[in-house]
Amino acid sequence: MSHDKIEQVLIGIPASPGICHGPAVLFSEGHLNLPCYSISPENIKNEERRLDSALVATRKEILEIRKKVSSTLGEGEALIFDAHLMVLEDNALIKEVFQCLSDEEKNIEYCFNQVVERYINFFKDLEDEYLRERVSDIKDVSKRVLNNLLGHNTYDHLENDSKRIIVSDDISPSHAMSLNRDSLLGFLTDSGGATSHFVIMSRSMKIPAVVGLHDATSKIKNNDYVLIDGYEGKIIINPTTETLSSYDEQALKKRAIELTYQKELFEKCETLDGHSIELMANIEGSGDIQSYKESNAKGIGLFRTEGVFLRNNHIPSEEEQFEEYVSVVKYADDEPVVIRTLDVGGDKLMQGEQDDSFLGLRAIRYCLENLTVFKTQLRAILRASAFGNVRLMYPMISGLEELEKANIILDEVKESLKNEKIAFDESIEVGAMIELPSAVSIIDLIAPKVDFLSVGTNDLIQYLMAVDRMNDRVSHLYQPMHPAVLRSLKSIFEGGANCNKSVSVCGEMAGEPLYAALLIGLGARNLSLSMSRIPEVKHYIRLMKHSELVHLASECVLLENAEKIEKKFKEYLDSIVSNSMN
Ligand code: PEP
Ligand code: MG
Repeated sequence: MSHDKIEQVLIGIPASPGICHGPAVLFSEGHLNLPCYSISPENIKNEERRLDSALVATRKEILEIRKKVSSTLGEGEALIFDAHLMVLEDNALIKEVFQCLSDEEKNIEYCFNQVVERYINFFKDLEDEYLRERVSDIKDVSKRVLNNLLGHNTYDHLENDSKRIIVSDDISPSHAMSLNRDSLLGFLTDSGGATSHFVIMSRSMKIPAVVGLHDATSKIKNNDYVLIDGYEGKIIINPTTETLSSYDEQALKKRAIELTYQKELFEKCETLDGHSIELMANIEGSGDIQSYKESNAKGIGLFRTEGVFLRNNHIPSEEEQFEEYVSVVKYADDEPVVIRTLDVGGDKLMQGEQDDSFLGLRAIRYCLENLTVFKTQLRAILRASAFGNVRLMYPMISGLEELEKANIILDEVKESLKNEKIAFDESIEVGAMIELPSAVSIIDLIAPKVDFLSVGTNDLIQYLMAVDRMNDRVSHLYQPMHPAVLRSLKSIFEGGANCNKSVSVCGEMAGEPLYAALLIGLGARNLSLSMSRIPEVKHYIRLMKHSELVHLASECVLLENAEKIEKKFKEYLDSIVSNSMN
């Protein structure tokens, strides 16, 4: 809060609802906007000193993390940081940077980066695998040094801080996962879309977020007081006392509404005309089980197992995975737990993996190329299936070949468990996520081969519309109510019904009352959503009539654009709310 600074408003994409305010802390993990400017000869010594202090600060940082990792994960995991320290102490590199500084007379960030880039290019083309792998060490350390030169913080420091709003160019799911929830007030990012994985996580953590702000990292300085309106996708830098109190009032009103939703949580989830809808929970790991019980969800419709892999930055052993899965399964009693096999790639990169394309080696493709990882996970899931009602689900199935290959591996794993006399549910149900346009086109071929289907609308929209779900510049084209999405959904529900296979929806669409209304109208009876969204969605379902939704959806299938479809559903939602007040 400030009296002498000017209030400034930035508009982005509303990502996670909620209002909060507090001091900002700047982070950078993605692309750094490095300044480049000339230095006069008399300032060269000063630039050298700046680098020296950045190196000292970076060394201190790495030693702190090393200590923490060694005490929590063990000395073996901490060894990587010795390699990082060696990069930092490379005299030849520092000498080259100083040489560049005196030759080019440019600022030290620029010179440091020039030399580091040369090193990276040299190492990355080497035959020797060990030396090639040094590239990620050099990248990691040099980013820390540059962050220190630029006065940015790194994530590792946050845990010691009081509650802050994180401002970053981007946030990866693995970093979001490693943050201490107690120190977070909100997230702001320059890039990203409403279904980026870190956004999905902030929604489930109930942390307000606005993404796609383009230049938040250049407009906001460390310790600036910032207000986030996650409902409207608006942020205010240096809000006045009046602005703050008006938002605090709004937050109180929203809180009161949310409390009314909470009161219905243990009521039946049924439309006014008696059509019941199952609401299940999306979870990331065993850390979510407490919220699961509080949400009164009817089972877990999507267990994103990547969390288990990304949190600790290594591929977990069968035992580690089993412990995690079985604790969830036991907690769920006999409710179903849909465990999705590893969906890494895209924005969820494991250490050492470089392919961040959503069209690349992601999800089931990665698993079919990394059979040891896949088999270990299948063993852990199957073993957990002996303790409850587990269902197994493959992500990103593009066609029958992949499904068949995955099932062959599954059969092999089942066979070896049987030989080892290890218990598992022999009739475990196996399902496929429908999130690729190719899978939609051949839904009549896929549906008979699985026990259930689950629609991943986040990816389905991304791939159908060719809109990268992370890219804020095309986010206006990410339209859940586009006629192409509607028609695809319609054919998936019909394809499932024709074979008597259940079709649930586990993408973010299920967590928005407006979209949930459309999904139910098109045939959904089961929605799996972020637990924080369950109370509101349930409240709206209890005000709707199934027959009206079916009618509305059938009318909308004939409409030519998302705007018209959205308008119809908005009018419907407004009408049911006003009816409920009369
Ligand atoms: C989806 O794509 O809709 C989905 C549920 O999976 P994820 O968001 O993890 O890709
Ligand atoms: Mg997906």
